[in-house]
This record gives sequence, structure tokens and C-alpha cells, in this order.
Amino acid sequence: MTTYKGKTASGGIAVGRVVLCEKSAPRAARRAIDDTDAEIARFEQAKENAKCEIAKIHEKAQEELGEAGAAIFEVHRMLLDDLNFVDAVTEFIEREKANAEYAVEATCGKFSAMFEAMDNEYMRARAADVKDIANRVIAKLLEIGQSISEEKDATDETAGAAGDRTAHDDGRISETAAEGKPAILVAGDLAPSELMQFGKSGLLAVVTCGGSANSHTAILAGTMGIPALTGVEFGDQSAGNMRNDQLKQFGGQTAIVDGYKGLFLVDPDETTLKEYRQRQEEEAEKLRRLSELRNKETVTKDGRRIRLGANIGCEEDAETALKEGAEEIGLFRTEFLFLGSNDFPGEEEQFNAYRAVTEKMAGKRVVIRTLDVGADKNATYFGLDHEANPALGYRGIRLCLDCTDLFKTQLRAILRAARYGNVAVMYPMIISVDELRRAKRILEEVKTELDEKKIPRGKVAQGIMVETPAAVWLSEELAKEADFFSIGTNDLTQYMLAIDRQNPRLDAFCDPHHPAVLAAIRMVVENAHKSGIWAGICGELAADTTLTEEFLCMGVDELSVSPSRILAVRAAVRSRS
Ligand code: PEP
Ligand code: MG
Repeated sequence: MTTYKGKTASGGIAVGRVVLCEKSAPRAARRAIDDTDAEIARFEQAKENAKCEIAKIHEKAQEELGEAGAAIFEVHRMLLDDLNFVDAVTEFIEREKANAEYAVEATCGKFSAMFEAMDNEYMRARAADVKDIANRVIAKLLEIGQSISEEKDATDETAGAAGDRTAHDDGRISETAAEGKPAILVAGDLAPSELMQFGKSGLLAVVTCGGSANSHTAILAGTMGIPALTGVEFGDQSAGNMRNDQLKQFGGQTAIVDGYKGLFLVDPDETTLKEYRQRQEEEAEKLRRLSELRNKETVTKDGRRIRLGANIGCEEDAETALKEGAEEIGLFRTEFLFLGSNDFPGEEEQFNAYRAVTEKMAGKRVVIRTLDVGADKNATYFGLDHEANPALGYRGIRLCLDCTDLFKTQLRAILRAARYGNVAVMYPMIISVDELRRAKRILEEVKTELDEKKIPRGKVAQGIMVETPAAVWLSEELAKEADFFSIGTNDLTQYMLAIDRQNPRLDAFCDPHHPAVLAAIRMVVENAHKSGIWAGICGELAADTTLTEEFLCMGVDELSVSPSRILAVRAAVRSRS
């Protein structure tokens, strides 16, 4: 048995045979072109054909995974229509008098390098999406063939040969050991569309040496509910550079994927196999029991109730949250709308996103947190300066109170969306009563401006994230001016313990169960109740079922957790007497 370690992209345990995803990207030789208009038309045709293919994959994904799981293929379709990309390809053809395959490959290289150079891990992961759609368009161009008028020889030998494809060598997948049964897919790297070609029914787990845990492939695997590991260290091969011949050793082998510990066990011995099969049975039983709690109340045996909400970043997450039995959205991290864009999302785009979530929740409360960028959540278009200590830097409410146009645009969108349900606004990173007052004043100004223009809006409660020691110490004062508190234990732990949450070397010191953190939570809840407002927890600690009892004793009113943790937390509450 050989054990490899990787990063967990999706939890769970799988036992089965390994199937390899061997692929080689279609090669795009450079050819000189005289009739650039005809070449651009060829590109347009290939793009349309690629879109049709993506539409089919989208349809399959919708059937297997639902709207949320299929969303990435809608993004791929949109990328193919993205004017920046399309214009860059056509300009390349015109300027360089080069063939479309070469233009697509060169443009893809430029765009993916741009994404790869970004600070933000989420944006870096988008490079894989650009490569995926470019490969698809090149494959379609190769299918169409060269334009009749252009049959000149390649002028750039180094670019590879356009005709060196075989039936299985076209950038798509060839299987070596599937035998028609669901299998553990092992790949150097994997695009979402490639994962979808296997489909949920064909897969037990996914293991890649490249790829980030934030990639859409990882997200899709999570949505499919299968374990996934990325960045698996296969000896001395550098991550993401695994060649097909190096992968071959795994083909057809029996293996175990432990998505909890991030382990890939190849050719396990009988005892290990038995142990993991037993764990699989226990897991299946646990899930079956948990699913019975979907529509049950979050109440202890002696009748103490706690509201159980979900943390989300987009509309699709709200759908998942509802399916998992969320009673409300306790934290809508709106920065993901911003981080997923190339520019500031406008009022309409934001309004549509907030309204969609609000309508989906059909009267259940949606707590929309105003933009919390800065630190690890950064996008280049914000133009933020490099900071030595970004966690202690220009972020959250500090930035919003400074950039009032940006802040007001978001507040307008939230107030307009509030007409469609039950919306509350939450301000992040508050350290003083004055900051809360200023935020509230700006909200009042926005309300007045909307009313003057007769733009319909709703009412919103206004709360704060309690995630700085200052907010804890001022919680008695803040409670007199806020409608609710939500304790952000991720940042609170980092600031209380003076431990940078991004620094892996400090993992061993980062103890969210630290008595100082728990004392802070107790104090905040007490101060909230003295002023008659509710206090919840929306940091990761809320999902820690070893603390559920303690939170109940403290009188915490609400716990907001990631959708996949809802049922486990509900079970923990219901088991307490
Ligand atoms: C927190 O800090 O606990 C929190 C919920 O916010 P984020 O993780 O988005 O900073
Ligand atoms: Mg925070």
C-alpha cells in the first residue's frame, strides 16, 4: 500500500478502482493567413459549435446536479461570448495574419497568465476555466479544418502540429480502466467540463495533483457529493505537471480516497480496506439519519430553540441551503460577487443577486453583509495598495466608509431588494460606535435619495459583525444602536489571539476554543440581551458541534453555518436536553 497526501476539496470516503484521465491539449500550429475575414468567420463558427457542445454538457449537469451545480457551464458559455476574449482573438488574427487556432491559443495564454498572476486564490483558479474553453474552441477549429483558401505550411515549427490528433488525443478524456463501473478518477489536472463528461454516476472520487481547492472542479465535486483531493504529492513530480506516463502506474489499481484526512491510499491491504468499508457504511447510515432532520425544528429536548442559518456567497448556495433545511441566511458574503468580476458590479447586477436570494428564501430572513474586501479578499480592480499587515489593514467597513459611492451603490441595491422579502444589513469589521453611526447615517441618506426618486424599497434591520476585540469590549454600547449582533469567530479568533489566520505555520497555535474567545462570545451575548437584541455566531466555530451545548448555555440565539453543516448542527441541538 502506498499513501499519498493532498488537500481536501470535498470530504467523504471512496473505495474503488482507479481510472485515469489521460489527455493532451489540442496543438495549434501557426499558419500564415491571407484572408483574415475568412479566418475570423472560421473562429466564429468554431465558437458557435463549442457553445452548442457546452450547452449539451450544461443540460447533462442540470439533470445530474441541478441548476447550482451546472452554473459553471453557463459561465463557460458566457466566457465564449466575452467581448474582451473574442476581440483579442480577432485582433490577433488581423494583426498577426495568423490562423484562428494559433490566435486562440495565444490569447488563452495571455488571459490565463493574467488570472494566474492575481493575488486572490479564487481568481487564480479561473485560469483553468479559460484554458478549458480555449481547448474546446481549438478542437472545434480542427474539426472544421483549414479554410479552403489557406493551405500554407506551418511557419512556426515550435508551435506543434495541427494534425497530430488521434481519436483519443484531442484534449478530451480517454479511459484506461473504467470497465463501465463508477471509479476514482486520477488526473494531472482536470477541467470542470472533463469532470462532467464522466458525470456523477461514473465517479466515486476525484484525485488531481494540480488544481486549487477553490477551483470550479473542486466546487463541482463538492456539489456532486463525491470526495475530491487536489495538490496530491506524487513523489518528486511537481504538482500539476504529472504526465500521462507518470499517471499510468495508478490505472486499474484499487484505491481509497479519504477526503477527511486528505489521503489517497493505493493498493491498500485487506485490513485497511475492511476498516474503510466499515467507515463507509457508518457514514451512509449517519447521512440517512441526518437527512430525516431536514424539515425538523432546531430545538433541544427540553424545548430550547436556536435559529439555524446558512452562510452563503451566491444565489446557488441559497438553493443548497434551503435543500439542507436552513431556516434563514445568517451571512451572505457579498464580496464574492465582487471577487468574481473583472470590475465593480453595478447596482442592477447587485440588486438582481440580492433579490434572487431574497425571493428564493421566501420570507425567511436574509442577512446581507456589506462588502468585506481587503486582506485575503482582494481584486486587482480595487487598486488597493500592498500592505505589510493586510489583516490589520484597509478592509471591510473602513473601506466602505471611505468610498461612499461604492458603499451607497451596494446599499441602494440591498434596499431595493428588501421589498421582496425579509432582509437585514450587516456591517463588517466594526471597531467603534462612531463607525456604526456613520454607516447608519449613510443608509438613511440612501433611503431618502431612493424615496425622492420614487424608487421602491423595503425596510432593513441593521446589525454588525462582532469580530474585533474592540467590538467585544464596546458591545454594551454597540447593542444600544444595532438591531443584532453576529459574532465572526474566524476574525475574532485571529484578533483576540494575535494569530494571522492566513499563516499555515500558526495553525498549531490557532485555538478557537481558547477561553478568551469563549469569554468574548459570552460577554457579547449578555450585552446583546441586556439591550433586547439577538446575538448569533456566523464564524466557523458555529458549526463546531463540540461547543453546541456551551452556545446553548450562553443563550446564543442563532448559529449560521455552511450549508453542508446544517444537519449535523441540528442533530447536535436536538440531542441536548
Ligand atoms: C468571521 O470573521 O468569522 C466571518 C464570518 O467572516 P469572514 O470569514 O468572511 O471574514
Ligand atoms: Mg470576518
